[in-house]
Amino acid sequence: MHAKKHTVVNEDASNSNWNELTDVIDEALKQHCFSMVYQPLISVQSGKVVGFESLVRCESPTFGVISPCDFIPCAEQSGQILELGSWIFQQALLDLKRMRNQGMQNICLSLNVSPVQLLHTNVYEQLMSLIIELNIPPSAIKLELTETALIHDPQTICKVFNAFKQEDVQIWLDDFGTGFASLSLLRKFNIDGLKIDRSFVNGIADNNDDFTLCSAVIAMAQRLGLHIVAEGVETESQLQILSQLGCDVVQGYLLGKPQTLEKNLSLWS
Ligand code: C2E
Ligand code: MG
Ligand code: MG
Ligand code: MG
Repeated sequence: MHAKKHTVVNEDASNSNWNELTDVIDEALKQHCFSMVYQPLISVQSGKVVGFESLVRCESPTFGVISPCDFIPCAEQSGQILELGSWIFQQALLDLKRMRNQGMQNICLSLNVSPVQLLHTNVYEQLMSLIIELNIPPSAIKLELTETALIHDPQTICKVFNAFKQEDVQIWLDDFGTGFASLSLLRKFNIDGLKIDRSFVNGIADNNDDFTLCSAVIAMAQRLGLHIVAEGVETESQLQILSQLGCDVVQGYLLGKPQTLEKNLSLWS
C-alpha cells in the first residue's frame, strides 16, 4: 500500500512543492535513504551523558540532504510518517540496545513521536513489542511529543499515554513554550518532563524576557516534580545560567552535536 494514497491529516494538499516532496520521501523510503543520528543529553551536575535523542536524517539520491523540519511535516500530512515512524522506532531501539551493550548500560533514549503516529497507528503495541524483544527496560524510553500533539484528540492521546505510563515508559513535552498547551494539560496528561525550547535558551544570557521565561519554567517544573531538559545550549554562559537555575539536564551543540551511532560509541563508551 502506498502511504501517500491515504491522507491522514486533513489539510489542503494542493501545494505542488509538497506533492514533489511526497515523491522524494517515497523514493527515499524505497531506497533506504533515511538514517538516524543521536545527540547526547548531559547531566549538569555530573557532566556525564544520561541519554541520547534520536533524530532522523534523509539524503535523497535526487535532492541531496533534506531537513526533518521539511520532510516530517510533509510525511505527517501524507501519512508516510506511519511507515517512516515504524522504521525509526526499530532502528533507534536497536541502536539503543547496542549502546547499552557497549559500555553505556544505563543510557536512555528520547524518541520523537508524531501525533499522527499516536492517532493512526498502534504505536503502543509497536514500541512495547520492540522493548520486550530487545529486553530494554521501558523506563529507558522517553517519548517526546509537542504541545500541539495534545490538543488534537486529547482523549485518545490520554489513553495511549496511560497505557505507556503503566509500563513505565516516560512521556515528555518537546519544544515547551512554543505551542498552545495550557498548564492544566501538564497535570491531565501526567507528563514526566519538559524540554525548554531552544528559542528561549538562545537568549537566556542576554535577553531579560528569555531569562525570566526559562527561570519560571524551571521553577514550575521543580514545584510540579517534573524533569527538565534545556535544548539548544550553545555557549558556556547559557550553560552556567541554566546550572544556576537548577536545570537537570542540557542538550546542545556546546555539549555534543547529533552524530551517528558509531561516532557516539567511540566518543562516549
Ligand atoms: P526537536 O525534537 O526539537 O529536535 C531538536 C532539534 O534541535 C534537532 O534538529 C537538533 O539537531 C537541533 N539542535 C540540537 N542542539 C542544537 C543547538 O545547540 N543549536 C541549534 N541551532 N540546533 C540544535 P533536527 O535534527 O533538524 O530536527 C528538527 C525537528 O524535526 C525535531 O525537533 C523534531 O521535531 C523533528 N524530528 C527529528 N527527528 C525526528 C524523528 O525521528 N521523528 C519525528 N516524528 N520527528 C523528528
Ligand atoms: Mg525532540
Ligand atoms: Mg525540541
Ligand atoms: Mg523542535
